Amino acid sequence: MAVVQRPIPSSAEVSARLSRQRQRDTAPETALRRLLHASGLRYFVHVKPVAGLGREVDLVFPGKRLAVFVDGCFWHGCPDRHRSWPASNAEWWRSKINANRSRDLDTDQRLEMAGWRVIRIWEHEDVSIAAKRVRAALTRRTNT
Ligand SMILES: [Zn+2]
Repeated sequence: MAVVQRPIPSSAEVSARLSRQRQRDTAPETALRRLLHASGLRYFVHVKPVAGLGREVDLVFPGKRLAVFVDGCFWHGCPDRHRSWPASNAEWWRSKINANRSRDLDTDQRLEMAGWRVIRIWEHEDVSIAAKRVRAALTRRTNT
């Protein structure tokens, strides 16, 4: 993989984005967890559900083999208008976010090959609608 120099944050906004990259318990994610928990659902948080696949999943429903990701619009390249490329170091950001997207697709494929269903939720989505999507998937999914 080509190594592109990590840019020095050129503004407070870029610094904030960099510091958010590894943040796990984002506001949209905790809001979704609260809603699902309140409706009686139980799940694991931030686990690697498939042995040998070193990919962490945000919410895991092991009995139903359902994996749920809550993706940040910036880092995962949301196709909506939420995505805005920083003007400086544009090429670095583009390759970084494209790499994230490729990795997401690869993660989905590997989980699906292992018999899992994957739901990805954008952080901009309405949390109650997102919770409905998860509940609907759990209802459809037969126990194994
Ligand atoms: Zn978005």
